Amino acid sequence: METLKPNRGWSKANTMPKTPSAPSPSDLTFINRQLKQQLKTLTREASHNEQVLKRFHDRELTLLATETLPELLSCLVDGMKSSFDLPYIKLVLNDPDHELRHLLLHSGIEPDSLPDIRFVDQVALFSPKLSRYKSPWLGPFISDDHDQLFPEAALLKSIAILPMLRRSKLVGFIGLGSHDRNRFTRHHASDFLNRLATISAICLENTANREHLVVAGLTDALTGLHNRRYLDRRLEEEVTRALRYQHPLSCLFIDADHFKRINDTHGHGAGDSVLREIALRVKECLRASDIATRFGGEEFALLLPQTDASEACTLAERIRHRIQDKPIAIHGGGTVSVTVSIGVAPMRFEQNANTESVSKTLLDEADRSLYIAKSSGRNRVQLTEEEAE
Ligand code: GH3
Ligand code: MG
Ligand code: MG
Repeated sequence: METLKPNRGWSKANTMPKTPSAPSPSDLTFINRQLKQQLKTLTREASHNEQVLKRFHDRELTLLATETLPELLSCLVDGMKSSFDLPYIKLVLNDPDHELRHLLLHSGIEPDSLPDIRFVDQVALFSPKLSRYKSPWLGPFISDDHDQLFPEAALLKSIAILPMLRRSKLVGFIGLGSHDRNRFTRHHASDFLNRLATISAICLENTANREHLVVAGLTDALTGLHNRRYLDRRLEEEVTRALRYQHPLSCLFIDADHFKRINDTHGHGAGDSVLREIALRVKECLRASDIATRFGGEEFALLLPQTDASEACTLAERIRHRIQDKPIAIHGGGTVSVTVSIGVAPMRFEQNANTESVSKTLLDEADRSLYIAKSSGRNRVQLTEEEAE
């Protein structure tokens, strides 16, 4: 990123003759030549500044258009590297509640796998010196001061450190590094860098808020599993895929037995602890590709891609045992023993069936199997009747 060149202008005092008498023709020729030269320089600088400004402007628009956190981070690091032709862009982000890291994990991205981004619990602890900057710092790379921000940057010559401020609070830094010692010097104007850092901080906050809404809209707050809306969304995708590739797909409906008694005996808080623990134990039995959702109340629905009826029953038995075998510690002390009933249904491949009807049949059949498991004594696994015959 080029920085803006200061407008030098020209000074009358330097160019006009000092005496009040009329200038001689040779003076005028000299002044004329000087003025032409200065005009040339100014035009060149104006054109350079216009190009720099355009790059800043384009980068800002790209930042503002990003919708997800991974997109924004990639725009901040990779986008800036390429559009400003810089070898190093480093990002340090204040993340005291691990909020940004959780959002990334939710998108399937391991925060530690991003080489140019550091998430820190407290910027001030990461670097007390850097955290005192309130405006961009441009100058030579000094290893004692800047090693932490650019740990592997052996050939760095000049850097810019841009504090990202939001409502006067430091939310992170952007570090720009160049192999050219004249790329960033304290003589360069830094207003546009400052503006870029501010826009980055605002975009970061907006994107994190937006992602929170999406995650919250598809996640069950009590158990952290996905919710029913998410199931509806994924069900169609998974059924379409299974039909296209003729892969098996199974569904499990799990319902806690006599759960109302737990609430009645131990209170709602204890009931909540049990629901959380059931969710945890279910999750522990699943593969990464399985989809676990809280369908509602004390009922859970699972979608198991590439799983046939017999594999689904084996998994259901494993889940049933895992919940039955160890009493659950409850809110306020003590334990309760819980069992679950599970309905199992494999997807049916019917000629000319559409995704919607296949999806509906799959859920209906798992629900019917669950009903049979309940009515035939609870704490059991029941496969769709036709399959079981
Ligand atoms: P069954 O074996 O037939 O399934 O009996 P059950 O008692 O589990 O089923 P029932 O439908 O009669 O009761 C479900 C109870 O689950 C009633 C409801 O208050 C409770 N429940 C639903 N959601 C929550 C929740 O988020 N927290 C707690 N603590 N209880 C909940
Ligand atoms: Mg129940
Ligand atoms: Mg129920």
